[in-house]
This record gives sequence, structure tokens and C-alpha cells, in this order.
Amino acid sequence: MSDAKLTPMMQQYFEVRRGLSRDTLLLFRLGDFFEMFFEDAVTASKLLGLTLTKRQDHPMAGIPAQALDTYVTKLLAAGKKVAVCDQAEPAKAGKLVRRQLTRILSPGTTLAANQLDAVRNHYLAALAVDKHGLHAAWLDLSTGEFKVATDERVANLLPVLTALDPAEILITEGERERWAAAPHEQTELHALHAFCNNRLASELPGYHFDATTGAKTVMDTLGVLNLEGFGLAHTHAALGAAGALVYYATENLCAKPENLRGLQEYRSTRTLLLDPATLRNLEIFNSVRGGRDGSLLNAINRTATPAGARLLERWLAAPVLDLAETNRRQQIVGELRAEPMRLAELHELLGQVRDIPRILGRLQNRLRNPRELGGVRDTLAQVPPLRAALGAFADAQQLPAIATQLQELPALRDLLGRALATELPNDLTDGNYIAAGYDPELDRLKSLTTDNKTWLSDLERAEQERTGIRSLKVRFTNNFGYYIEVTKANLHLVPADYIRRQTTVGGERYVTEALKQKEKEIFHAEENALARELELFNQLVTAILDESIALAHTADALAELDVLVGWALLAREWDYCQPALDEGSVLEIVDGRHPVVEQMLRANDIAPARGSSAGFVPNDTLLAADDAQIALITGPNMAGKSTYIRQVALITLMAQIGCWVPAKSCRVGLVDRIFSRVGASDDLARGNSTFMVEMNETANILNNATPRSLIILDEIGRGTSTYDGLSIAWAVVEHLHRDPERGPRTLFATHYQELTQLEKHLPRLRNLSVAVKEWNDEIVFVRRVVPGAADRSYGIQVARLAGLPLTVIDRAKTILAKLESDDTTVSLPAPQARPKKKITVSEADDSQLKLL
Ligand code: ADP
Repeated sequence: MSDAKLTPMMQQYFEVRRGLSRDTLLLFRLGDFFEMFFEDAVTASKLLGLTLTKRQDHPMAGIPAQALDTYVTKLLAAGKKVAVCDQAEPAKAGKLVRRQLTRILSPGTTLAANQLDAVRNHYLAALAVDKHGLHAAWLDLSTGEFKVATDERVANLLPVLTALDPAEILITEGERERWAAAPHEQTELHALHAFCNNRLASELPGYHFDATTGAKTVMDTLGVLNLEGFGLAHTHAALGAAGALVYYATENLCAKPENLRGLQEYRSTRTLLLDPATLRNLEIFNSVRGGRDGSLLNAINRTATPAGARLLERWLAAPVLDLAETNRRQQIVGELRAEPMRLAELHELLGQVRDIPRILGRLQNRLRNPRELGGVRDTLAQVPPLRAALGAFADAQQLPAIATQLQELPALRDLLGRALATELPNDLTDGNYIAAGYDPELDRLKSLTTDNKTWLSDLERAEQERTGIRSLKVRFTNNFGYYIEVTKANLHLVPADYIRRQTTVGGERYVTEALKQKEKEIFHAEENALARELELFNQLVTAILDESIALAHTADALAELDVLVGWALLAREWDYCQPALDEGSVLEIVDGRHPVVEQMLRANDIAPARGSSAGFVPNDTLLAADDAQIALITGPNMAGKSTYIRQVALITLMAQIGCWVPAKSCRVGLVDRIFSRVGASDDLARGNSTFMVEMNETANILNNATPRSLIILDEIGRGTSTYDGLSIAWAVVEHLHRDPERGPRTLFATHYQELTQLEKHLPRLRNLSVAVKEWNDEIVFVRRVVPGAADRSYGIQVARLAGLPLTVIDRAKTILAKLESDDTTVSLPAPQARPKKKITVSEADDSQLKLL
């Protein structure tokens, strides 16, 4: 459509539209509606179930302006970006209204409370790759957290990015296609492609990632002259990505983000790395069924505040490798745990604390409503009792430091206490959020309104008397204003000075000159009162923002206290112990339990399965990089192998984030990475065969594990034929043991009995098995891990427990007996894949054995 034919309004529309990317839907304010046109209208009508109409033959769809939030939430959830173009002045007949873009909302930059999950961090991340490695930056605009990281290996950074699970990613134009087209062996680029594929990736021209410009943009936004205060050189390679984030956030907010407090550097060497497969396999954030239920995060989250829940998520996503910090957290948990009554009181008080980081984020970025101020007031009211409760813990060494970080801000607390009404509306235009008695001027304006309302009820009474119409009413509607209503039966009594305005089903509506005059006065007084209230509101916002640094620090301390109070409660409830951490290479757990399975067993009050004992059965673990390095665990299916090896990984992770652990005692020599390959999980959705995925993940482990790592392998090699699988499993174990001195602590669960023979050749390998008892040809699971290899696999007994028909069970026994007796005369169709003879060490490839 050429501009010449366009109405001025549509010209205005296209001007705004031109500045937006194609994937952004433009909501254009027309009176009481936000309208979408052309392709936007078609897309949105499908997503929102709107009726598609036409304007000059072009598709159009609209939503009522008051319902904007609800519809935007739906569009964001569908992964769309939405630009809001509002009227910048009141409409006047015959004149084109000025309109301007007020905000672009995208999944990674939205700030509204209803568009954010309160208990989850909400990141926008930017990624750039060059020959020096991966450069990344991430920003939670809702809280102001801002980080950069650069690493020559993608594998060192991708784990944390995956764990942070950004809502939106920024990359340079065409990057995605380049990654997808990279040669197969460039697995790092394919990993990046896979990472971007599952989420909204917005592409920006490459120059937005320029590091020099980025450094300037970042410094300008943070209001600093250099980045040294944050320990960063102005040449840091990830400043390009950081600059892209700030650029994008500024575009979307239509203003500079005002709540960025600083910029921190993330270093993978200071963090316990959990690669994406491990996060999935160990069900750290989500269970395999999807959702938080059944995840470690859920099992150890007893927080009372959203900011606390988000901090816990961050601690799990990037566990610190810092003994002093971990010990500090553990000690605080211990101090809190020691006094149950006071602990319960703290938890209760924290329950009243509101989400200060996000409230500040919204206030600073011009998203303001009275309830947010109420949040600050209510939180500040909790600080004195919280400090008092913390002070009451006798003999506490670490807690006083937390107490001193909680700032009372008495002047602000007092101001908000006096100024704000008890009940607060969500919308500024509703008024009535300033308390009576706080501001004489506002009180005066409001009393005018009240006086006028009294005048109205007096008028009603007077008119009833004058006209003799007992049912006469003075009423008000939003689009009609004040009027006098007379029912049909009384119309003959209406005096001559009544001016008729409207006929309704039941009667007529009138106004009088006096009423019109009064209406003006009332509206005027109301307008003045609202304007005064808004002025006071803005003063309160300024007062809060003047203390934003102190408030943010207090909020940080409250979030930390919340996580630790939760862990202290958890430690009491489930009888956890304080683990000892050191720089050594031992991992020793006495009576360890699986934190999630244990809770699930009790919560569901699961009756023990046939043949198994009641309750969770604790087990010990002893691994050392230079001694019992590899534990090879055999035992029948369903015996508890997977549970056992996972529990060791989870206990280690819990210990390293500062939580207490489900065990009688526990000692952890710091672990730098946890790797886990569990089961034969299907990844067909991503177009990879199960076996390919398994081998990719195994390769990742073998290439990246260090002697400080912890490796959990479950049934490696199961995805291929028996001989292939066994050979691979065999070679993997040998590889992990290749260093003559030490190697990564490893737990390897397998159903390949043959592997147990490796114990004779690999000095640091120990056989363990999960014990079962046989009773009357039935199997009894005792869930005990004991030294030594399992004698056999009990597959047939397990099949029987699973309810296979007895005829099949009996037949299987016959076949097994024949196979085991090496009888080649089995008169039945012999199973193809099953080796006729058991493989023994002497039959393995000698060249491999020489490596020992
Ligand atoms: P495997 O890996 O040997 O096939 P799993 O680890 O999957 O066995 O365990 C099977 C079931 O046994 C699990 O669902 C779990 O509920 C239960 N289980 C495992 N270990 C224990 C234990 N130590 N105490 C109680 N129940 C357990």
C-alpha cells in the first residue's frame, strides 16, 4: 500500500511499525481499544481467539484497553514480542492524536508481576562466539542482576546457561544457521544450536555485539567511569554481549534500565559445573516427568519468600567452589537449627516479607502501582522483629552478621506507615491509596468531594419533597454522570425545570441546571484530589528510590536468611547432618539417603513393594581419587542401583551449596564437576538416536572430567548390542582408571556381570552390589549396598514380580538353564543377541588389558 493512499492515522501506524522487527506484534491504541493490523492481526487472532475484522479490506483485530495485561501475558507465553503504542494525549475531535511507543514486551524483558513466575529468576542472555571462545552475558531485568562470562570452551559456560534457563536469548544475525551448518565434529557449536533451539532467540545485527561499544554502553548505564570497581577490565571479551543486552533492554523499555546495580563476572573455575545432561538426569530443577515435583530443588526448598526461592535456584545453578563460603552457610544452618522455637518464629516473620528486588525493578523502570509501595512498607515493618529474633540466638557466630545487613531505614518506614492507606488498590487511577490525615491539602480536596456527595443526598430528599415523587433517585453512571431518575408511573409529576436526557425501560433520566453545576464541581474536586494524590505518590516513590541501595542490600540478606532458615527447618525435619568439606579427594558418606526418594516414600506413605523393606534404607559410600576411585555396582533390576548412585551425587551437591545432607555423617573432598549419565533416555525429539545421545554424553564426560570430578554412570552401553555395549562400558572404565595415580571418583552401575572381573586388574576399582535375598524362588529387595559383586542378575525373578505369566517364567528358566550349561542343542528358537557363552577376562582384547 503506498503511503499516498493512507489515512494520516495509518501513516502514523506504519511509521511505528517500520522501527520494529517482524516478529514483534504491534498493539496500536485506538480509543478504548488496542488494534492490530495485517499479519499481526491474523497471528494474534489465532493465538488469542479474537475475531478478525476488516478495515479498508485489511485484516484487523482488537482487544479492550483495560484487558491489555491479560492478553499480553498470553502472547508472551506463546513466545511472542509485543510493542505497545499508546495515545500520548487525550483524543480531540477532528485532530490526529499523537501516539508513541511506550514499551516493547518480550519474554526476557517483561517486568509486570503477572508475567513473571515469582519464584523463578527471569533471564535475558546474550551469546557470541569467536575464535577465543564463548562470550556470554545475562541479565534479570526484574531484579537488576547482571553478569558476564567468557570461556575458551563452550562446555564450561553452557552448563550454567542451561541451568539459568533464560526466557530469551540474543544472538547475532545468521548465527543460528551457522551453528546448525557446522561440521558434525564441532560439537560445541551444535550444543549451542541445541541450546538456542528450545527457546526464543532474538537476532540482532552483529555491531550490537561490539566489545568497545558494549563497554561504553554498560558504563553509561551503570553510571560509572570504569569497570574496575566490579573487578572487570574494560576490554573483557563478554562486554560485547553485555552491551547487546543493555541495548535490547533500553529499546524494549523505551528508556535506559534504571535498576542495574553492577556487573559481576561469572567464572566457571569458581563454580561446581553441572552439565545439561546431568541437570536432567539428576532431576535437579525438574523431574523427568516434567515440572518441579520430584526435583532436588523442590525437595530442599523450604523458603517463605519468592526472592529466597530465586536465590536457592541460583545457588543450585552455579554452586560456589569456595570452602569458606560453603562453610559459612552450613554454620548458619547449624546455628538456626539449634533453636527450633526461634527458627519457627523467623520463618513466620519471613512469610510477611515481600518481593523487594522486583518491586524496586518495577519502580525504577516506571512501572508503578500503589501496592508496590505497600510491599516496601510491609517488608520494612518486619525488619525490627527479624533483627530482634536473630539477636536472640545465643552463641551464634555467623547470624549477627546477617542481622547487621538488615537495615531498618526508620525514616522511610515511618513515612510509608503514615502516608499509605491500609488497603491499597492495584491501579493508580483508582485513588484512595494515601491515608487520611497524612496530607492536609489532600484531605481538604477529598472533603470537598464528600461534602458534594452529602449535597447530592440532600438534593434527592429535597426533590422528593418538592415533586412528591417518593421513588425519585439521584444516580450516577460513568458515561452519563449525575442524573435524576423518575419511574414511568410518576412522569406526570416531573416539574418544568427538569431537562430530559434519556429514556430507559423503566422511566426517564433528567438533569437540572443546579445538578449540572454541582457535577462540574464534583469532577473538579475529584480530579484535584487525584492529582494531589499522584503528587504524593511520586514523592513516596522518590523517597523509596533514594534508599534503593540500602533496600536492595537488605533484600539480599533477607533472601539469604530465607534459604538458610528453610534448610535449618529441613535439617530438623529430616534429621540431616552437617557435612565436612575439605580440599582432599575423599567422599565418605555414612548412612546416606536419597533426599527426594526419601521424602516421596513418606509423603505418599508408599507401602513397601512386594519383597522390599519399609522406609528408605540408608547406605554408606567411600570413594577416593587415589584409592577406591571407581565403585562398580551390580545387582538385579529394581534393586536400588540407580537410586544409590544418584543419592551420592545429590548429597555431594547439597554439601557443596552449603545445605546439610541426608546422612549420619558425610565428608566431601571438594568436587569440581558432577557428571551423570543415567539410563537410556530417549531424545528422539531432537532427532538423535538414544545410543548417539548416550555416546555424546559419555564422550563429554571422558573429555572433561578431572581428578576432582564425580561421575555417575548408569548402564552405559545398553543402547546397542550386548557385545558392543559391554566392550564400550569396559573401555570407559579403563579410561577413567588410566592415570596410574588418581582419577575422577566414579560410581558405575551396570547389569554387565562380566565387568566385575575388572577388579582383579584395576587396583582402584571396587565391586559393590545391592543385596537381595532369595526366598522360595522369590526375590526380596533389601536395598543394602554391600561389598563384592552380585552373583547373578535375577532377571527372571524380577520378571515374575512384575507379573509375567508363570508359563513364560517357567519357560525362561528352562532356556536359561540350557544357555548356562552351554548346551547348544536348545531346541527352541535361540535368542539372537544373547552370547552363548559368558565372556571372561581372558577373552577380552589383550591390547586393552596391557593398558592396565
Ligand atoms: P535399579 O537401578 O537397581 O533398577 P532403582 O534404583 O530404580 O533400581 O530402585 C527401584 C526402586 O526401589 C525405586 O523406585 C525406589 O523407590 C526403591 N528404592 C531404591 N533404593 C531404595 C532404598 N535405599 N530404600 C528404599 N527404597 C529404595
